[in-house]
Amino acid sequence: NQVPAIKLNDGTLMPQLGYGVWQVPDAEAERAVGTALEAGYRSIDTAAIYGNEAGTGKAVAASGLAREELFVTTKLWNGPKQKWGRDQVLRAFDDSLAKLRLDHVDLYLIHWPRPMRDDFVAIWKTFEEIAASGRARSVGVSNFRPADLERIAAESELVPAVNQVELHPLFPQAELRAVHAERGIATEAWSPLGQGKELLTLPAVTAIADKHGRSAAQVVLRWHLQHGNIVIPKSVTPARIRENLDVFGFELEAGDIAALDALGAGAAGRRIGPDPAAFD
Ligand code: NAD
Repeated sequence: NQVPAIKLNDGTLMPQLGYGVWQVPDAEAERAVGTALEAGYRSIDTAAIYGNEAGTGKAVAASGLAREELFVTTKLWNGPKQKWGRDQVLRAFDDSLAKLRLDHVDLYLIHWPRPMRDDFVAIWKTFEEIAASGRARSVGVSNFRPADLERIAAESELVPAVNQVELHPLFPQAELRAVHAERGIATEAWSPLGQGKELLTLPAVTAIADKHGRSAAQVVLRWHLQHGNIVIPKSVTPARIRENLDVFGFELEAGDIAALDALGAGAAGRRIGPDPAAFD
């Protein structure tokens, strides 16, 4: 397994490339995650809202891999339309652990900041307790904006280990990445392949792929890795699951990176997913 590890700000090592399971039905998750673990992935990204923690947990149990070889991430879903209370957060976390059949996760994330609910600082204080208990080795956030990270810093003790955000060449998040670097927060890219849509068909991407004799997906994953991003590409197709891990035998040149950087620079950058300012 050639996947490099990223050292998080709490000292934990996280594989730089993992396997994401959004939109994988629970009944299919055991096979899909099993295929990924067999292929050599050691990091799995799920969430309570994906509804596939149980299938993921079955695959992990069936893999025969030692627990310390695996890095399992799950996420606290957006609460009811009122604020989350401490006990509700702890119950949601217990429920995720039970479905995953684990006594701890490696990373637990607040899925969305929901700034209109004004409760993420309180949730984060419960995450600090969860981290102190050892039931999550690391805790972090997802979809947090610079202002949200500023509030966490001003009103709590622990710095999130990770912020998992939409990030790909069409939405490169330059400003947010600079904030992460300043605060010591690792950048994790969701929809790293732009959900396998337009991005992988752009001539700028396919030309680089042809030059290296690699696929467009592999070129985009290299762009992330060479920028230092943690990535969690998703596929349920065994050949693509393996292809997305087979990205350590070549390197993009500086000119390739610059060409990919140009795709979403400045005003050209656009999201595929929801805007965290409004998503509830
Ligand atoms: P992705 O960018 O990983 O794209 C996945 C899609 O790309 C696949 O469904 C397939 O259609 C295509 N694809 C995959 N490999 C390919 C290949 N080798 N060649 C051609 N096409 C290929 O999109 P994603 O699933 O949205 O994101 C990855 C993971 O990020 C998710 O599974 C989930 O774990 C996480 N995520 C988190 C959030 C969040 O709010 N925190 C939001 C979205 C996704």
